[in-house]
Amino acid sequence: MSRSVVVIVEPKEGETQPIVGEMIGLAERIGRERGSAVRALTIGARAADTAGTIADQTGVRVTALHDPSLATYSAEAWLDLLGDVLPEWRPALVCLAHDSTGLDLAPALAVDLGAACVTGVEGVAIAPGGLEFIRPIAGGKFMARLRPRVDTAVITIMPGVFEPAPPTDSAPGLVEVRAVAARCLRTRSLGVKSSGLSTAGLDQADVIVAAGRGVGRPENLALIERLAALFPRSAVAASRPVVDAGWLEYRRQVGQTGATVAPKLYIACGVSGARQHTMGMQGSGFIVAISIDPDAAIFNLADVVVVEDLTRFIPVFVELCQENQY
Ligand SMILES: Cc1cc2nc3c(=O)[nH]c(=O)nc-3n(C[C@H](O)[C@H](O)[C@H](O)COP(=O)(O)OP(=O)(O)OC[C@H]3O[C@@H](n4cnc5c(N)ncnc54)[C@H](O)[C@@H]3O)c2cc1C
Repeated sequence: MSRSVVVIVEPKEGETQPIVGEMIGLAERIGRERGSAVRALTIGARAADTAGTIADQTGVRVTALHDPSLATYSAEAWLDLLGDVLPEWRPALVCLAHDSTGLDLAPALAVDLGAACVTGVEGVAIAPGGLEFIRPIAGGKFMARLRPRVDTAVITIMPGVFEPAPPTDSAPGLVEVRAVAARCLRTRSLGVKSSGLSTAGLDQADVIVAAGRGVGRPENLALIERLAALFPRSAVAASRPVVDAGWLEYRRQVGQTGATVAPKLYIACGVSGARQHTMGMQGSGFIVAISIDPDAAIFNLADVVVVEDLTRFIPVFVELCQENQY
């Protein structure tokens, strides 16, 4: 039997997340080139509905492991249930989203399968010797190319970097619903609650000015606010170190563990461009980045780069704009 490519999807309320189409697009490309079957798998109380939607939208075969007691993700339960199913399918590749569930599950699943684990994958090359995975390292300054030394890999893929599978115009995929029950759980999820925090207007702003660690000290945030004040419908955001230092509230954090934003203009001030930050702002219409480091990874994304100390550049820029009444 040929090896399969398996995409694992967490059921979520509302519409299917774009990352699901991106994972299936990647799996189908690999499946086509290597002659592997592509299968999707989803787990939990809402698994059957999610499986139906994925099968309709993509045409792939989807298995739902329906356990009514699993209202939310549980690593322990998922590993138990996957242990029954995955060996049957002999996966060469198991693909998860690079989100909190994927990051939690992938390493443990790789251990159970005796597989390699590569997280934060942004590229996959199908080389003669096997699959190679490309991921950023050193805060996005370098790209590493990794080839597993075993013949199974578990990966998490970054949202927004792979071509999504086109909507299917053929028949929906087959849906198989298996009634299952996770055994011997030592943990019990009591549910997931929204933090209830607003996004400080980040989702409505046309212009976002983001403060990174390069602002240096909290007093310099006044510069960021002055820059933001030049634009109507603007908001101030932050990278994680600025929030961790308590200089701005968490609701202003952009990135993997913060908000995802897509303003018309994003001005990154003293932000290095780590993937965990850029994945929250890469959909911005136009990006300006100010950093003293000419090799800052954020410059790879930026439309305009300013290599300068922000404490020198911003006051001069604001003054010029005000003098000329821009
Ligand atoms: C699981 C996980 C989740 C994470 N989630 C997030 C997230 O949601 N959002 C997030 O932002 N990060 C997140 N991070 C952290 C992330 O990896 C980076 O550490 C963080 O984004 C770096 O923030 P920064 O760019 O502000 O700081 P740095 O990486 O320290 O960069 C500061 C930049 O400012 C420049 N600089 C210094 N002084 C000046 C100056 N005077 N003028 C101009 N430029 C200057 C420096 O050269 C550098 O380029 C996460 C990390 C992990 C492990």
